[in-house]
Amino acid sequence: MLKGSYPLERFAQLPTPFYYYDTALLQQTLDTVCAQVADRPTWQVHYAIKANHNPQILRQIAVAGLGADCVSGGEVQAALDAGFVPEGIVFAGVGKADWEMRLGLEAGIGRFNVESTAELQVLSELATSMGKTALVSIRVNPDIGAHTLAGITTGLAENKFGIYHGQVEDVIREALSLPSIRYCGLHFHIGSQILDMADFAALCNRINDLCARLERRRLPVGDLNVGGGLGIEYGHPNHLPLADFKSYFNTFKQLLPPKYPVHFELGRSIVASCGTLISRVLYVKEGLARKFAILDAGMNDLVRPAMYHATHRIENLSSDGPEVPYDVVGPICESSDVFGKGVVLNECHRGDFIAIRSAGAYGESMASNYNCRPFAPSIFSDF
Ligand SMILES: *Cc1c(COP(=O)(O)O)cnc(C)c1O
Repeated sequence: MLKGSYPLERFAQLPTPFYYYDTALLQQTLDTVCAQVADRPTWQVHYAIKANHNPQILRQIAVAGLGADCVSGGEVQAALDAGFVPEGIVFAGVGKADWEMRLGLEAGIGRFNVESTAELQVLSELATSMGKTALVSIRVNPDIGAHTLAGITTGLAENKFGIYHGQVEDVIREALSLPSIRYCGLHFHIGSQILDMADFAALCNRINDLCARLERRRLPVGDLNVGGGLGIEYGHPNHLPLADFKSYFNTFKQLLPPKYPVHFELGRSIVASCGTLISRVLYVKEGLARKFAILDAGMNDLVRPAMYHATHRIENLSSDGPEVPYDVVGPICESSDVFGKGVVLNECHRGDFIAIRSAGAYGESMASNYNCRPFAPSIFSDF
């Protein structure tokens, strides 16, 4: 089977598991994104830090000129530490604590994406007390169902995020009336791992209806932040390493009027492909009806399969032996600690290197110390 190419001699010196990041592939991804929006000077792409907050990855993305999309005070601090300019930082989240808002106000971040009237009032009080002005977008719940995993759709009326699109006028009026608040635009985000461009087209249609309604009522629109959510092909990292950025940006180019500046918040599609979780086979076990490949990486290192039933492509980098189906599992004391069932791998032996592909997004950033296991370190291709 076609496999990714990895420096196995270098890996042989290292304890496993670890995350391996292909810096050149990340750069190629960033260059592709920047090229797609080069013809739109008022468009800005922000990187959603929660996908991967590894400091070296953040620095590379900051140098490429992207902004940062943060969902906590810790992420705002990580963005500042990595060198993202404050004006390029946007801060979303349904439950921002006072200290997190103060941090953003003190740093002078580019935007607070506000999710409720109550939050708007607290932000106004804090900004007034600090003698600052908060730049605000209203997060709208567009009631659009993204065709993705149920746990990662965010734009339905039943989800906790944003202000229902029918109630936005009142919140804009409130924002315009409050001291130390400058209303700047609208924010949307419908979910994650979206591969059907029709979902983004539906979002554009909803945005256009809403903008027309606001204009009829002589309310300002400002700029548009369409969020993130572009998916990647987890099954084909060798053939399709890059997300379909062209179709994605073209959808917005075709459907949104050019008069509005547009912001994007891409997480997964920027970093997923460049990361691989590398582990070794500890044991091969013959079950009653199946074979288990037991790895030294577990769900604490990469939780997506256990949490969302997500699938990653898995490859045995050390073997050209006959192809055999395995249940690929970790060492954790949970039955859900499974990376894949019936995965066809070249015959496994103790010590073989196993690559779990496309693990750069929501891998290292969601890792835990469960079972008192240490965090897997990160290794970069360029040194
Ligand atoms: C998580 C998140 C994103 C990024 O989503 P991806 O699917 O990783 O692109 C963007 N915006 C907001 C508000 C988010 O919460």
